[in-house]
Amino acid sequence: GLTYDIAIIGGGAAGISTAASILKRKPGITVAIVEPSGSHFYQPGWTLVGGGVFKQSQTRRPEKKLIPPGADWIQAAATGFEPDSHLVHLSNGSSVRYGILIVATGIMLDWDAVEGLSETLGRNGVTSNYRYDLAPYTWQLVQTLGRGNAVFTQPPMPIKCAGAPQKAMYLACDAWRRRGISDNIAVSFHTATPGLFGVKDYVPALMEYIERYRIDLQLKSNLVAVDGARQVATFSNVGADGATSRSEVEFAMLHAVPPQRAPDVIRNSPLAGKDGFVAVDPATLRHVKYDDIFALGDIAGTSNAKTAAAVRKQAPIVAVNALAALEGRPMVADYDGYGACPLTVERGKIVLAEFGYGGKLEPTLPTWLLDGRRPTHLAWLLKEYVMPLLYWDGMLKGRELMVEPRPLTSKS
Ligand code: FAD
Repeated sequence: GLTYDIAIIGGGAAGISTAASILKRKPGITVAIVEPSGSHFYQPGWTLVGGGVFKQSQTRRPEKKLIPPGADWIQAAATGFEPDSHLVHLSNGSSVRYGILIVATGIMLDWDAVEGLSETLGRNGVTSNYRYDLAPYTWQLVQTLGRGNAVFTQPPMPIKCAGAPQKAMYLACDAWRRRGISDNIAVSFHTATPGLFGVKDYVPALMEYIERYRIDLQLKSNLVAVDGARQVATFSNVGADGATSRSEVEFAMLHAVPPQRAPDVIRNSPLAGKDGFVAVDPATLRHVKYDDIFALGDIAGTSNAKTAAAVRKQAPIVAVNALAALEGRPMVADYDGYGACPLTVERGKIVLAEFGYGGKLEPTLPTWLLDGRRPTHLAWLLKEYVMPLLYWDGMLKGRELMVEPRPLTSKS
């Protein structure tokens, strides 16, 4: 096997950004990115593909072009971790030995956890913006649907971008309103969660859209099975009395979001906490047990919103802390849990949720300019034009506009 100063597992949003940030700060150290996929995807763009705003191709780039200069790309998957030997095993039969390990594998979409769903995705009116190949089908269905039930679902937490299941719905409702056919389509939102959104400050604005689009909101209602041929979805519901019941709903269109969990390779490793995600300190993002291991992005066992926006803040923090650890110095920077979720409530308007640990609001812009608790056109412009630039040319390149690692305030 090979030996690197820093080995990064996963070359997604978090892995690439952290590698770029580290190499900007300390060129010359050896960095490996272990990533099996030949393509990288800008997943936040899939909502706009499903809404007919972006082309599918705008959300995909070759991995090769994104690996920062100075890093080695190992095109393989990690298959096992031996933290006591500072060793990661790979799918190509070799292994990597590291000084510092950074885990950034993302979260796993568990399509098979919903009976019958995998088989019917992309057919029978069943779609999901959570897959690159299916997001265009969402828009196709929205454009061609004339009447019937349109059903949108959200699984139990944790999921990445918890607002995305309802974003798909609002953009669809808006398209039907513009076509003047809203009266022919009955829309329902079934979410396994007890509320519409986890941070209460954003709920009133979202409820206004639930009412405007006359959406039947079903809380604590979890999609458990799909019969594609019959176009019937089955839900497990928790009633007010706490009792569980099942219900069947016929649909003409179903936008499904799958349950999500830590991939098995992490879940079954010594790195995992009880929930299967990598057990890290919420502030320094260093492993609670292994001083030479860090995690960020969707695989980190932290309570922030699992978003690319969170990664943008986490990457420079992990970069400076990992370099400190490599040199045997104490931790230098803290993450405050920032994450953001731009809720596309209609074409041209967004409720921009920005919050940290504990649901504390953390607006980037002053409220007089952009109040995230209200739908604004400015937030839409940020989403359509600014955020993709910030992602491709800022974050992934290690150009950290407006992101200074926050000095350590915790005792960790
Ligand atoms: P990813 O970017 O998913 O990358 C993980 C990488 O690890 C992948 O390349 C994968 O191939 C690789 N990998 C997996 N297993 C292994 C292994 N065993 N070994 C090596 N490599 C492995 N975020 C926002 O900020 N705003 C939004 O509006 C937004 N909207 C979204 C809408 C949708 C529909 C979706 C799906 C996501 C959205 N997100 C949004 C969330 C955002 O995309 C993720 O939070 C972000 O990509 C997390 O980065 P990551 O690097 O942790 O994971």
